[in-house]
Amino acid sequence: MKLTFEEYQARQVVHEHKRVDGPWFWTRYSAHPYVGCRSGCTFCYLRGGRYLGKRDPDTFDTLIQVKTNVVERLRAELSRLERDVLACGDWQQPAEDRYRLSRQMLEVAHELSFPVFIVERSPLLERDLDLLTALNRRSWVAVVISFSNLSPRLKAAFEPRSPGLQRRLQCMERLASAGILVGASLMPIIPFVGDDLSHLDEAVRMTAAHGGRFVLGAGMSMEGAQAALTWAAAGRLDPALPGRWRRMYGEEPDGTPRSSAPREYKARLGQQVRELCERHGLLARMPRYIAEGPLAVNKWVAEQLFLKCWELDLELASPSRVWAYRKAAWTVDALPRSIAELHRRQPGTGLRQLPEIGDAVARDIERWLTEWPLKRQGRVRAVTPSAFGPLFDSSEEKP
Ligand code: SF4
Repeated sequence: MKLTFEEYQARQVVHEHKRVDGPWFWTRYSAHPYVGCRSGCTFCYLRGGRYLGKRDPDTFDTLIQVKTNVVERLRAELSRLERDVLACGDWQQPAEDRYRLSRQMLEVAHELSFPVFIVERSPLLERDLDLLTALNRRSWVAVVISFSNLSPRLKAAFEPRSPGLQRRLQCMERLASAGILVGASLMPIIPFVGDDLSHLDEAVRMTAAHGGRFVLGAGMSMEGAQAALTWAAAGRLDPALPGRWRRMYGEEPDGTPRSSAPREYKARLGQQVRELCERHGLLARMPRYIAEGPLAVNKWVAEQLFLKCWELDLELASPSRVWAYRKAAWTVDALPRSIAELHRRQPGTGLRQLPEIGDAVARDIERWLTEWPLKRQGRVRAVTPSAFGPLFDSSEEKP
């Protein structure tokens, strides 16, 4: 298959998320050097949505667009942003062998002391272990090594050109040995062929055996070009599989197949991964980066609220209850002053005056605030000053 590189100058490279993506990767920003991916996994959600812009999805794995000015733009854009977690880079081959832009992006993050989150299928990431280790000392690094399962048969069916599974595990082990927070994302977990206990147990067990600290699992979405390719691959593996998927996913009222699996199925999957994590001594969520400062308590309380949403979802709680915690998490996460100080000054009433904080949620927050002094140690990261001024406005309240 012929691969073409197309170089261009991007106007903007950092995407600022409206809200932190708790309780998944906790990122606030993202910046990537390439558009398109040679691996061309059939289930890759990047084939659809806005990622490719107006490009034909069929060119996803044959045309790699390269943002040749990504390093300069990243430095200029980050220097104007509040320091928070940046999802950064793309170690796909052969693009990264040729351009080394992801390594240079890490250098910029190091220069500006930005915490970095990386999700990768490529073990080429190991090449930059020196820089990742230095960045982890200066700010923070978390890496998620991605695989759907560890079955060579399923890999050959759905992601034949992606890097080898054993190499990914070795990469995880080397990162963990260097003191970097690393875990696995089982994404997507493939229904009926990769979602049984033995596939899930093997993935969680091998993550634990290679130094991983957590496992995140998620079901498979089915949209546009991605769905068509994945269904075709499924049909080659087992002619009955597409029909089983179709029956499980169901249809929209207009007769088109649903893009997401039923909530009950996703909850069952989440519960299984959580139980396996407990059995193998791992976390079922990635711990959040929390910077030292007066707002550290807000970030931790918001983390607890996001975790509560996730647990309620797994228990199939009413959507309104899940949303109550999600909205409260957004409120606390964006609060510009310390929630602990607010509660100290106005016990009983302060929290309840905040938008989206009802009585039940306020009681949970009060309980977490009593736990915070003990939890604080080991969760808060010291911040190395950068060349671009203080992180916090000195007029902010001190705890
Ligand atoms: S390696 Fe990752 S980005 Fe590339 S096609 Fe596969 S899932 Fe998508």
